[in-house]
Amino acid sequence: MEYNNDGEDFSKNSTMISLSFFVIIDITKNSASNNSINSWRDGKMNMDNTALSGIVFNIQRYSIHDGTGIRTLVFMKGCPLRCRWCSNPEGLSNEIQVLNEPEKCIGCQACTKACPENAIHANPGFPINRKKCINCGMCAKYCPTGAKNICGELKKVDEVVALIERDRPFYTHSNGGVTMGGGEILAQPAFVYKVLKCCRELKINTAIETSGHGSLKWLLQIANQCDVIHYDIKVIKPDVHKNLTGIDNAVILDNLIKLDKYLSTMASPPLLILRLPVVDGYNASKAFIRDAAEFIKGNLCNYHLIELLPFHNFGEQKYHKLDMKYELAGQPNTNPEDLIDLAAILSELNLPVRIARW
Ligand code: SF4
Ligand code: SF4
Repeated sequence: MEYNNDGEDFSKNSTMISLSFFVIIDITKNSASNNSINSWRDGKMNMDNTALSGIVFNIQRYSIHDGTGIRTLVFMKGCPLRCRWCSNPEGLSNEIQVLNEPEKCIGCQACTKACPENAIHANPGFPINRKKCINCGMCAKYCPTGAKNICGELKKVDEVVALIERDRPFYTHSNGGVTMGGGEILAQPAFVYKVLKCCRELKINTAIETSGHGSLKWLLQIANQCDVIHYDIKVIKPDVHKNLTGIDNAVILDNLIKLDKYLSTMASPPLLILRLPVVDGYNASKAFIRDAAEFIKGNLCNYHLIELLPFHNFGEQKYHKLDMKYELAGQPNTNPEDLIDLAAILSELNLPVRIARW
């Protein structure tokens, strides 16, 4: 996949393939839906369109992470980065995908009969040949046990906003709200912008998580609709960043500096929280923390907090369901207390720091 800084080259062809089954009613029956799909895919700024659609792979209720209070987390599909430690592999592809859980399989063969590509082997667990699979979803439709399951769903803005709003009583009593993440929100920026804007109009607290790799124009537009921005800094050195995430960090750091400046111009800017994932064997080093501190002190002045995120391996099972290799197999979770020395480096430089807990 190729992305430019306007976020406009978002695997257009593969999207059409992956959506061919799931949204065929929306796409073919009326031109309004057709326009929605095209707007989403092309990243056009259609600010007033609540019929705009995006691919969401999870809406998690009652979370106490990623912002204040009780929150609803909306996970968007598609990410330009390939962080080796990613805990949401189902958010990487911008396509709707099929998950396979062999332990749920009863061997009924419904999936092999339904598959138009002969991509499912009649072996124990009925594995999917991912090279042949076109993610049409027929196997999941006919699987009686959920062993074959769909990951990702095209949803309209107003559908997602309604799902967020149903938990308003919890937000009210806990100072909670909605947090949009992924995947990468900047991979579907028009949709994310519109959901957040609607939530704001409903007086729901709004937060995002972003890698910062995407269109600056959209990042600033989205910032206008946020109460809190969680912005990742994974590595400072460009070559190391490229090695660990698949891309260098020029756009990410440049966008962060410009976002920080933009916040200075806002009457009520969102809280900017810088997040540093810390992973043993990759970036859990004093050198990285010192690099990050130097960058932050030299370039930013509108951040509220730096959070160190200890590594966890909760995503490992999801790699298996997608037949993807998990590079950190066997690596134990990092104890948050193990990051105290790294946090001390930041606090000794008078930088506000907190160690997050999972
Ligand atoms: S999604 Fe399922 S039915 Fe469709 S091609 Fe892939 S394996 Fe076959
Ligand atoms: S349809 Fe589901 S339960 Fe039946 S063989 Fe396929 S994966 Fe197994």
